[in-house]
Amino acid sequence: MTRRETERKLAAELEAHDNVDIALSEELFKGGCPLCRHRVVQGRRFLRSLVYEGVNDVGFRKVLERSRGFCERHTVALYEADRDEMGGALGAAILLESVLRHRLEELVGAGAESKRINRQRLDVAAVAADCPVCGAEADGVKQAIERLLLRLDNDRWREALGNSTLCLADTVRLARAAAIDEKRLASVQPVLERQLARFTKLRAALEAFRPRQHIRPPATSDSRATRLGRPGDRSPRRARGLGVAPRPRQARRKRRRAVRVATWAGTR
Ligand SMILES: [Zn+2]
Ligand SMILES: [Zn+2]
Repeated sequence: MTRRETERKLAAELEAHDNVDIALSEELFKGGCPLCRHRVVQGRRFLRSLVYEGVNDVGFRKVLERSRGFCERHTVALYEADRDEMGGALGAAILLESVLRHRLEELVGAGAESKRINRQRLDVAAVAADCPVCGAEADGVKQAIERLLLRLDNDRWREALGNSTLCLADTVRLARAAAIDEKRLASVQPVLERQLARFTKLRAALEAFRPRQHIRPPATSDSRATRLGRPGDRSPRRARGLGVAPRPRQARRKRRRAVRVATWAGTR
């Protein structure tokens, strides 16, 4: 059985009432965070509808004007969706032209061309766009979380969500959405426990990558004596508490070793 067939088989074991359930059940077994996957799918779907209908949709054009355009990620994605769906860039060009016109007006209105820049208006022009695609993605995830919380009464759904690899941000979103009511919180608790156990294990594994720092052994009375000179040493340095300078031969040996290491490192 291929991986895809196994995923489908596992997904089919979850009781599904509609297309949203079917989509979520499949996303739970595809690996990675199922909610991030759902977010991407929702974003793509929204972009597709934009290049088909958004261009001629007066309502959407007004929404776009209010939101002041797309984020950087979705500006590129809009062009790609247009190219993939329509085989060109006409729809993306029309939408992006209206965004650009609006944003340029802001910049020119702030006096960007003159020497008298209006800082307040410039601050307004600098505010990031409230990207409608990001909005559609966030709404999609919110709805998915609501649906998953509803399905957690079912053992299989609860098991599947507990075993999935939610990302940390979506784990927090799930916990926040459940925290509004005790019944929801009780049903999500086993899922959160599994996710937290996974993150704890992950943290421990990542800790192994931390560079090991050279740890000096704690100073013993002997090493202190070496550093500061032997008791009874009456040299002037000992008397001033400055420690003992290395003897000339030791210093020469140390320097020769350093040169050898440097040469070796340089020729490798
Ligand atoms: Zn995620
Ligand atoms: Zn966006």
